[in-house]
Amino acid sequence: PTLPLSPVVAMMPSPGMGHLIPMIEFAKRLFLNHGLHVAFLIPTDGPPSKAQTTVLSSLPRGISHVFLPPVTLSDLPPDTKIEPLISLTVLRSLPSLSHSLLSLAASHRVAALVVDLFSTDAFDTASELNIPSYVYFPAPAMVLSFALFLPHLDQQVQCEYRDLPEPLKIPGCVPVHGKELLDPIQDRKDDAYKYTLYHAKRYHLAEGIIENSFPEVEPDAIEFLQKKEPGRPLVYTVGPLVNEDSSRTGVDGAAEEVLKWLDDQPRGSVIFVCFGSGGTLSSAQMDEVALGLEMSEQRFLWVVRCPNDKVANASYFIADSNVDPLDFLPKGFVDRTKGRGLVVPSWAPQAQVLSHGSVGGFVTHCGWNSVLESVVNGVPLVAWPLYAEQKMNAVLLTQGVKVALRPTVGENGLVERKEIAGVVKMLMEGEEGKKLRHRMKELKEAASAAVKENGSSTKQISELALKWKGAKTTVSA
Ligand code: UDP
Repeated sequence: PTLPLSPVVAMMPSPGMGHLIPMIEFAKRLFLNHGLHVAFLIPTDGPPSKAQTTVLSSLPRGISHVFLPPVTLSDLPPDTKIEPLISLTVLRSLPSLSHSLLSLAASHRVAALVVDLFSTDAFDTASELNIPSYVYFPAPAMVLSFALFLPHLDQQVQCEYRDLPEPLKIPGCVPVHGKELLDPIQDRKDDAYKYTLYHAKRYHLAEGIIENSFPEVEPDAIEFLQKKEPGRPLVYTVGPLVNEDSSRTGVDGAAEEVLKWLDDQPRGSVIFVCFGSGGTLSSAQMDEVALGLEMSEQRFLWVVRCPNDKVANASYFIADSNVDPLDFLPKGFVDRTKGRGLVVPSWAPQAQVLSHGSVGGFVTHCGWNSVLESVVNGVPLVAWPLYAEQKMNAVLLTQGVKVALRPTVGENGLVERKEIAGVVKMLMEGEEGKKLRHRMKELKEAASAAVKENGSSTKQISELALKWKGAKTTVSA
């Protein structure tokens, strides 16, 4: 008799870091707590970035990865938005995905394929091979609730959502004005909208949706999503799944220098400024940030990117560049703020930075991973949304859970230096900042309870792991 094949979960994150990092955390829980092997199959359109290879090379042995052969996107117009880019990268990777799944299936039972939000085309590949599909949802439950609501909204509303006079009532969520909804739905004639709607209509085909959030952060949205309804997949809340590694093993020289600088600063005194893996500011906005930080008289650590005057997520898809972003800072800024501020080009070890005792606040683009990383460390926020669903996240953070301040954008489209100095000072020293800090500490406790043994998220992960370990699927080629 032949031995039963051991199970493996295949995961396909979309290109970029923002989805890879939390999926890796999910994979670690499956392997370290349940002995379930995970194989990452990563679509690409070029060589992997240093950030990708660094995180992937430090994984436990039960988590393997392959980069699928790069697809060509050169036929697409140069201004193609990120949603079609990601969707097409995935679509064009399906033959190699199928090939990789088959070769995994030669030695394992592939218990599930977990894909992320723009990758629903992979459902078809999985279903041809009899593998159940799951969606990993890297944004808050509020955004998931919106995504499931979108097909209905698309039918009911004729105009652009931003032109609706009243804020929208998304089930379980604080009301959101149309102009604060996801970027890709802001222009209904654009391909980005078509792709977003297309995927939203397909989520119901998944066996389950894995949501990186936890009840205390958005109780109503999660309660709504977890009500059983015909046509809605089970929603598992597994968050906060974040990189909580505060150890310094594995950080490279540049990162170590950043942490050493933090070691020398007073407790809770530094505001960390970082716009995710993809965020970029215009040159005019970058000047205002620099001069605002200077004016605030606070200690700061700022991850600086080359400015981009056209799009706010310019560094998302671009791996590594040779241009030094510090060259774009206002003249004399680095010297004038020496000792009090540190600027780091392109990338900082954010998880370690946020868990460092010297950090007392975080100016963030509201990427959901950044938000959760701040939550697990109890660090209050300045919400500065740039792209994707970040404006919705900012609404949740300022009006729902109330752990963030949001600076006002001036008539010229810029957040001006005075405004920046004001919110930063208020967060670090003001009464309002104290309240937000207190609320953030409560969320930190709740987050830590959710991921403890018997915590709500731990239980949901166990449920999935048990299902996958016992699942009987046969791959039919
Ligand atoms: N990150 C980091 N260093 C940086 C910028 C980003 O380690 O300088 C990490 C950050 O800790 C988070 C992820 O990259 O885990 C960014 O994810 P998020 O959802 O916040 O934003 P995205 O990059 O997807 O817009």
